[in-house]
Amino acid sequence: MFFSLPLRQLYYDGQVHAASSGKTFQTINPATATPLANIQVASNSDADTAIAAADRAFPSWSQTPAISRARILQKAAAILRERNDEIARIETLDSGKAFTETSTVDVETGADVLEYYANFIGSGGLKGETIQVREDVWVYTKKAPLGVCAGIGAWNYPIQIALWKSAPCLAAGNTMVYKPSEFTPLHGQILAEIYTEAGLPAGVFNVINGAGDVGAYLTSHPTISKVSFTGQVVTGQKVAGSAAGNMKYVTMELGGKSPLIVLPDADLENAVDGAMMANFYSTGQVCTNGTRVFIPRSMKTTFENRLLEKIPFMRSGPPLDEQTNFGPLSSASHHEKVLSYIRYGIETDRATLLCGGLEKPTMPQSLQAGYWVKPTVFTDCTDSMRIVKEEIFGPVMCVLSYDTVEEAVQRANATEFGLAAGVFTKDLNQAHRVIDQLQSGITWINTWGESPAEMAVGGWKKSGLGVENGRRGIEAWLQNKSTLVDMSGVGATFLPS
Ligand code: NDP
Repeated sequence: MFFSLPLRQLYYDGQVHAASSGKTFQTINPATATPLANIQVASNSDADTAIAAADRAFPSWSQTPAISRARILQKAAAILRERNDEIARIETLDSGKAFTETSTVDVETGADVLEYYANFIGSGGLKGETIQVREDVWVYTKKAPLGVCAGIGAWNYPIQIALWKSAPCLAAGNTMVYKPSEFTPLHGQILAEIYTEAGLPAGVFNVINGAGDVGAYLTSHPTISKVSFTGQVVTGQKVAGSAAGNMKYVTMELGGKSPLIVLPDADLENAVDGAMMANFYSTGQVCTNGTRVFIPRSMKTTFENRLLEKIPFMRSGPPLDEQTNFGPLSSASHHEKVLSYIRYGIETDRATLLCGGLEKPTMPQSLQAGYWVKPTVFTDCTDSMRIVKEEIFGPVMCVLSYDTVEEAVQRANATEFGLAAGVFTKDLNQAHRVIDQLQSGITWINTWGESPAEMAVGGWKKSGLGVENGRRGIEAWLQNKSTLVDMSGVGATFLPS
């Protein structure tokens, strides 16, 4: 079979290695449903070897002065920026996301986080604290890295997720073995090669490929000190459970069903644009999507009419085309999952289908086999509908009307998830009051989705544990060591004084 991209192997100890499993899998271009590349699967013994390489690299990397680590990470960020479009093209082929997104967001926001943590450690950010307890007694607490860490990525922001995990991990002085999702594995080796080119010592960042069983082997390995996982709640629960039994640190970035509340005084254009960004960006495959859109009953018709006027601006087409802003879903299995939710919404939940639905958008011949879906809006939804309660992870908006703000807040919080939330209003006092009551770790006012490097992000409730990014994000990759120093010369003694 002809593959348009070369075979991918494993990357550890500073170079590419053939896997010993004898097994491969294919990564598929979701726009055309054609195979892109063959990927070798890591065996348990390959994973052991990669973890051993990371373990050998740890003592020296963790002792490397922060300013020297910073220089290497800054160089890697610069290479990522130089190669932005080339990497973005590969991400588009692998994930189906429009090049207009991958070239402006995916690589760039990953490089931003790398640069942020490099600058943070380079400017003395890894500082502890000192407390004077008595005249001659001091306590100082220093920050220490954890050791060899595992990074497990989801398929929706492949290289960005790899960078949001590896940047703070390596900046803090840890080493990492990373497993990308089997649906979007191509970025792994590219990132490892960039780190090596930037001067990262062999074994500090390693990549193994494979499906969930490879992830499970990696995350439960006794040498691994910490697991940083991005994925579904149900997988996260398994991974966190096995990590807890072995006293490993965890960061869990999981799913959501986030509420977006439009208040009666909101600017209509801003609210409609926000709801579209919160549902259709990346073809709805964003963990923080605001898929439950709460609208004042009196505003519903106006809101929906404007939404219908704007939806044609979502343009499906060849994902590399500069005009395309709406790609296919990422895989055949995910396509089937999203369609089954749409079918359920029509046939069983019996919500009103405002637009979109089960029919494939009209596509040129070369794209007809791809995993395309239309931007879909259900209205007259109720809180008990399955499409309103469960994460669909596709471009499916549910419009819910409400009568009072208190009611909207109460219904917004009535979910097991707590990833994101947002409010649209011109009344800033009301905005802060409502945001304060929403049970979510990531919130927005009059906008949706932006997540800069400085912003610590993480879910509440079942949506996760811990945060990524910002100053708080690096704490998750460090442990504390407290030392009490007695300078009085008269330490505690059992002998009579
Ligand atoms: P999955 O949970 O299916 O998979 C996530 C990763 O875990 C993949 O690399 C997967 O491998 C691997 N994996 C599967 N089983 C195990 C296991 N037992 N032990 C260790 N690793 C395992 O999630 P998706 O890839 O489908 O990603 C979509 C989900 O991610 C959505 O729910 C979304 O909300 C969430 N997400 C959350 C974000 C956040 O920051 N909160 C950001 C982005 C996405 P493989 O795929 O190869 O099977």
